[in-house]
Amino acid sequence: MTEQATFAPRSITENKTQRFAPLLDAGSHIAIVGAGAFGGWTALWLLRSGFKVTLIDAWGAGNSRSSSGDETRVTRSTYGANETYFDLNVRALELWKSHQKSWGKSLFFNAGVLWFCYEDKPEMIEATLPFMQKHGLSYQYFSTKEAANKFPNVNVSDLNHLVFDPHGGYLKAREGCGAVMEAFVSEGGSYVNASAKPSAIRNGRMNNLSLSNGETFEADTFVFACGSWLGQMFPEILGEIITCTKQEAYYLGVPASHASMFDSMPVWIDLDGKDFYYGIPNNAHRGFKIGVDQRGEIFDPTNSNRIMNEQVYKKALAFMAHRFPALQNAPLIENRVCHYENSPDGNFILDTHPEADNCWFLGGGSGHGYKHAPALGELAAKVIIGSQALVPLFQMR
Ligand SMILES: Cc1cc2nc3c(=O)[nH]c(=O)nc-3n(C[C@H](O)[C@H](O)[C@H](O)COP(=O)(O)OP(=O)(O)OC[C@H]3O[C@@H](n4cnc5c(N)ncnc54)[C@H](O)[C@@H]3O)c2cc1C
Repeated sequence: MTEQATFAPRSITENKTQRFAPLLDAGSHIAIVGAGAFGGWTALWLLRSGFKVTLIDAWGAGNSRSSSGDETRVTRSTYGANETYFDLNVRALELWKSHQKSWGKSLFFNAGVLWFCYEDKPEMIEATLPFMQKHGLSYQYFSTKEAANKFPNVNVSDLNHLVFDPHGGYLKAREGCGAVMEAFVSEGGSYVNASAKPSAIRNGRMNNLSLSNGETFEADTFVFACGSWLGQMFPEILGEIITCTKQEAYYLGVPASHASMFDSMPVWIDLDGKDFYYGIPNNAHRGFKIGVDQRGEIFDPTNSNRIMNEQVYKKALAFMAHRFPALQNAPLIENRVCHYENSPDGNFILDTHPEADNCWFLGGGSGHGYKHAPALGELAAKVIIGSQALVPLFQMR
């Protein structure tokens, strides 16, 4: 979950021209490396477009090393002045709802999102209002007095007001990846559990992958949706574009006396402009989740030990004791060290290798990608098969 990115027009993509990928021939075989939220949903949409699709993952869909492998992720309608992400989220929510219904699973929990606002008119919220109106959506504003009555477990003493977004909530993340994989395979896709290494580019094309099972895997088009691993995989092109930072989330045990009150609380985001703490009180009964959105140290997604930073934890606990006094002595039930796959400006990346137009990069989720995955996958599939132009905000050149 990130609020830090400015989502400004991409500095690395100045002077972009509108580009279409060459139309893919019917029956082409597309290999997607990475079965996280981005790769999984893109594979499903490519399959539904009539192509032969193979999804490859080193450790499995929603595995514990992946960014998509946490229990839950926030979904919110608020994206400041950025209409691309606003619209993407509207479409994504439609798709989460329709797919969970047809799959008979509960993946989206419409708990709403409560914003803790320190300023009179925070840009993040106010700039979204025209898009909300366009889609017939609205927020509810609470003075601190009203909020104190409605949410008695929140200390509002240092806030200016609170804003409730009734359309958001949270998503089951690892379960969502598993559900996408299940659908992909049952609709006719192939899955290979192996680590993949790209081959050298020859004559403007990538021809195959070397797999950890010893096989050479051939396809017509390759999509690398490897999250935080993209920088290591293509060091010359993405080494400085995708950076991987250590991120922490803690799951606190609420007192039994307050369990039902916290369970019925919305997701919350503390818009202080510094740590950007956020939380999911209900969190599918896994403990009151608190996340730290501030970027941590550089992290190796394969080999780093996932041990919390005590200083970051202590600071988060102090914040929680202040904001939710009933949690002053709450024990730590679980914690999780994950990683952001940061692009330089927080925008996603969907573009081709500069030397091979049959090799795609899809990533840069930058701490806010999960919620968008169904809609991003739908869009990525259209761009990759050449039926829709590349999206300037996601282009690298
Ligand atoms: C702590 C935290 C909190 C977040 N909160 C939110 C939130 O509240 N809301 C939100 O929308 N987003 C949130 N995000 C961001 C979101 O989780 C990510 O943007 C999204 O999950 C990225 O998905 P992905 O598919 O690009 O990457 P991943 O999920 O990391 O998937 C990449 C896959 O590639 C595979 N792989 C890597 N290398 C290879 C290889 N060589 N061969 C084969 N397979 C390979 C991996 O095994 C992995 O499965 C958060 C992220 C973190 C870390």
